[in-house]
Amino acid sequence: MLQTIRRRLGRARDADVVVVGAGLAGLVAARELVGQGARVVVLEARDRVGGRTLSHALLGDQIDLGAQWVGPTQRRVLELARELGVPTFPQFHAGQKVLTLGGRRSTYRNTIPSLPLLGLAELQLAISRIDWMARQVPRDNPAAARRAAAWDAATVAEWLGRNVRRADARAVLRIAINAIFAAEPEELSLLFFLFYVRSGGGLMRLSEIKNGAQQDRLQGGAQQLALRLAARLGDRVVLNSPVTAIEHGARGVLVRAGGERYRASAAIVAIPPALAGAIRFRPALPPARAELARAMPMGKVIKCVLAYPRPFWRDAGLSGEALCDDGPVRLVFDDSPADAAHGALVAFILGEAAREWGQRSRAERARAVCDQLAAFFGPQAAAPAAYLEQDWAREPWSKGCYVGILPPGALTRYGAALREPVGPIHWAGTETAVMWNGYMDGAIESGERAAREVLGRIR
Ligand SMILES: Cc1cc2nc3c(=O)[nH]c(=O)nc-3n(C[C@H](O)[C@H](O)[C@H](O)COP(=O)(O)OP(=O)(O)OC[C@H]3O[C@@H](n4cnc5c(N)ncnc54)[C@H](O)[C@@H]3O)c2cc1C
Repeated sequence: MLQTIRRRLGRARDADVVVVGAGLAGLVAARELVGQGARVVVLEARDRVGGRTLSHALLGDQIDLGAQWVGPTQRRVLELARELGVPTFPQFHAGQKVLTLGGRRSTYRNTIPSLPLLGLAELQLAISRIDWMARQVPRDNPAAARRAAAWDAATVAEWLGRNVRRADARAVLRIAINAIFAAEPEELSLLFFLFYVRSGGGLMRLSEIKNGAQQDRLQGGAQQLALRLAARLGDRVVLNSPVTAIEHGARGVLVRAGGERYRASAAIVAIPPALAGAIRFRPALPPARAELARAMPMGKVIKCVLAYPRPFWRDAGLSGEALCDDGPVRLVFDDSPADAAHGALVAFILGEAAREWGQRSRAERARAVCDQLAAFFGPQAAAPAAYLEQDWAREPWSKGCYVGILPPGALTRYGAALREPVGPIHWAGTETAVMWNGYMDGAIESGERAAREVLGRIR
C-alpha cells in the first residue's frame, strides 16, 4: 500500500489534510486547520457548497430548501452566524395552530396540541417518560446506557404501541417523530431515538418554536454560513470533485477525485455514512465502519415552500403552524420574510409519505399540498403565487435527509465506529455529533472535533 502511495508521489497534488465534503462539517474542519497553518484541500462532489443547506430566491427573499432553523443551546451555530455576520430573526408563531387528526380540524394555542383531557394526560406522561429515559443515555456512548441492549432491540413504534394506549396521543407523537427524524417510528431504534432526544436536550426542545430548535431563522438563508466559510477558504475548495477512492497507510492518504489525485498526511471524511459507502477504501475499512454505510440509511423529506402576496392566515389569527396525521403534508410553518413583505408557508412531506409522494409528478404533488393547506388555512392557500420543492431523496450526494437514522441493532453493533479514526482517516458530519446530532450545530461540532484530532496527528 505504502509503495503504491510512494509510486504516485510525483503525480498527486500535495496537502497536509484532504477534507471530503464541503457541507458545514467539512468547511468548519478546513477553517480550523487553515487557522493552525495547515495546507488543506476540500473536495466537494456538487457544483456548490453547503450540502444539506440550500437557499433559493423567492419573491425577492431567500428561502431555505434545506436546513432552516437555529435555537437556544445551539451555541456553535449561533456563534458561527455571529462571526460570519449572518443575523437571525424569530420564527413567526403568534396565533392559533391547526391540528387535523382523523380528518377533524381543531385549533390550539399551547405548545402541546389540545387533545381531550385523557389524551392530553397520556401525551404529557409519554413526553416525560421519553425525556426521563433519554437522560439515561450517555451522549458520547449511547451503547453504555444500562438498558441499551433492550432499547436497541425495539423500534419506537413498538414502544409507542406498548406505552401509549390512546390513539390521539399516539397520533400526535407519531407526527412529532415524523417531523424530527423525517422517518417513521417503525424505522427507528428506540435507543437511537432516545440518544437523539438527549443530544438535542429533550423532546420539547426538539419540537418547539419558542425555546426550541425552531426558534430562529437565518436572515438571507442558512446556506450563507457555508458560502461565507467557503469564500474565506478560496481555491482550497474544489467543486465538482466527487471522491471515489481513498488509499491509506501509516504515512497518509491518496485520495482520488474527478480525475485528480491528492496526497496528504490525513483525510477528514465529512459526509454521511450512507454516502461514505460509495467510496472505495484500500485497505477496506474495518467491518463495523463499513457496515454503517448500509446500517444507517438517510431519512426521507420533500420540503415545499409556497409564496402568497400576503400572510393571509395571520388575519384569521392563525400562526401558520399546522400538524396533520394524514395526506402528504404532516407539518407546516409560516415561512414569510422577517418584514412580511409577502407571505410564505413551508410544508414538509416526511418519511413514508415522502417515499410515496416522491413517485408522483411535481404537478400532482403541488396540487395535493395546496389542497391540504387550503383545508388548514382557507381557500386562499390553494392558489400560491409560487411553489418550490426539494426532494432530498433524489439528490445523489445526500440520498435523503435530514440525517442518517439507525434501525434496531445498529447503534449497539456499529455505533462505536462512527467517530473512531481508521489510521489517517477521520470522520466528521452531523451523524457523528454528540450534541445536536442531525443539526447544523452538530455538523459544526463534528468539524471542530475532527480538526482537533487531525492537528494532534499531523503535528
Ligand atoms: C429539509 C431539511 C431541513 C433541515 N432542517 C434543519 C434545521 O432547521 N436546522 C438544522 O440545524 N438542521 C437542519 N437540517 C439538517 C442539516 O442540514 C444538517 O445537519 C447539516 O447541514 C449537515 O451538514 P454536514 O456537513 O454534516 O453534511 P452535508 O451538508 O450533507 O455535507 C456533506 C457534503 O459532502 C458532499 N459529498 C458527499 N459525498 C461526497 C463525495 N464522495 N465526494 C465529495 N463530496 C461528497 C455533499 O455534496 C455535501 O456537500 C435539515 C436538513 C434538511 C435536508
